[in-house]
Amino acid sequence: MPPTCSTKKCTRISRWLCDCCQQNLCLRHLNEHNALLISQLYPLTDEINVLGNCLNTLDIQKIIDNNREKLEQWRQDCYKAIDCLFEQKCQELHQLVNEKIGQQRKEVNQVQLKITKLFNAQEANRQDIELLISTIRQLETKMNKLEETCCTINTRPLIIDDALISIKNMTEYELDLSTLSPISRTIACPKNSIGLLTGNDQYLLKHQKPNLCLFDREMNVVKQTLWPYDAINDMCWSSALDRFIVLTENNIFLINENTMSIDNVDTIEERDWGSCTCSDTVLDRID
Ligand SMILES: [Zn+2]
Ligand SMILES: [Zn+2]
Repeated sequence: MPPTCSTKKCTRISRWLCDCCQQNLCLRHLNEHNALLISQLYPLTDEINVLGNCLNTLDIQKIIDNNREKLEQWRQDCYKAIDCLFEQKCQELHQLVNEKIGQQRKEVNQVQLKITKLFNAQEANRQDIELLISTIRQLETKMNKLEETCCTINTRPLIIDDALISIKNMTEYELDLSTLSPISRTIACPKNSIGLLTGNDQYLLKHQKPNLCLFDREMNVVKQTLWPYDAINDMCWSSALDRFIVLTENNIFLINENTMSIDNVDTIEERDWGSCTCSDTVLDRID
């Protein structure tokens, strides 16, 4: 006897296996199942049309503008860095020229003083006159050359590396550990150094017993200062204060990256500071 349709109470002969429910059905019930499937297409059409329209109304310019802001910020920061170096070099130049002119003025004054003395005494010998003439000639030559030989400025063009900015296609929720760059440099730590590390635009700050050290991009120690205080619980950079913040159990210290001076700014015996972090305006401490 041929098998009957799997639908309840249907006695017709089953003809095909329905691929949605994996049951053997008669032609009529197979058609019903098919119609049910077709009916599910309508809401799907609506949904995909909504997504399509959404794409049409998406403000592409806004997405670009939002991301462009970050590029713009980078540009402003770079301009600032160039302006800062320019100002610093202008000051150096100013100081150097003033020092040279000052030195020259001093020498002129000395000769003037000598002549006045000879006048006042109303006594000068041939040797005095010859010495004065030679000194004045020397001064004259120096002064004539002053404009050209005061200082020389050598500059190198700024080489801009394309890799300073990378724009990556971001996939949602993706964390691809294989994109982590390989180890480029390592720092050897003396025994009992504290393993914390923090940094700003220029330097990394690290405790290398018995010192606090600043490392440059090549991982060379560029500055260091003795750290005679307690064990460090945490460190961070504060751009608002322009200082590194170092936290020990009861104290907060500020480290000046230029002078490496250490200032204790807060001592609270009854609290134990655990860790810290900074925003542009606020220091958060967790105790
Ligand atoms: Zn079915
Ligand atoms: Zn049937």
